Amino acid sequence: MGSTEHIERVTDLRAWPGEFPVSHLYTVGVAGERFLRELKAGRFLGTRCAPCDRVYLPPSLFCPRCFAALEEWKEVGPQGTVRAVTTAYRGVDGGPLDRPETLALIQLDGADGLLAHRIGGSEGVEIGARVQPVFRETAEREGSILDVRHFRPVYDRQG
Ligand SMILES: [Zn+2]
Repeated sequence: MGSTEHIERVTDLRAWPGEFPVSHLYTVGVAGERFLRELKAGRFLGTRCAPCDRVYLPPSLFCPRCFAALEEWKEVGPQGTVRAVTTAYRGVDGGPLDRPETLALIQLDGADGLLAHRIGGSEGVEIGARVQPVFRETAEREGSILDVRHFRPVYDRQG
């Protein structure tokens, strides 16, 4: 079958089926290192582009809008607003989770970027909900995004 014909199924092409394992190591880079070090101390740090008036979180060493090098670090959060939310019933390996997990994209106060994280105590969490981080105990932190156990809804004092 020639490559100019419309292909419905990839198996219609001549192929040698097989599998090979792929492993990788993703390094977080200079900005990611500082972000995670500060997170271990309980702070969220982004980088700011003054000409664009944007704060990137996760931080970036350059502005993706104007390509300027970014050297201004700015603390953001810790509270934020849920911008997207979903419930996962399967894990990243495709297997079923013991319990469904609520996952959200969170815009921390003062940041323009979004942080993906779990939501705990999530009954009724919707887009626009205010959330705050629940950190692990200081001694348990490892300089990982999971130093934040999850985010939880911010309840006002009346509620
Ligand atoms: Zn910029």
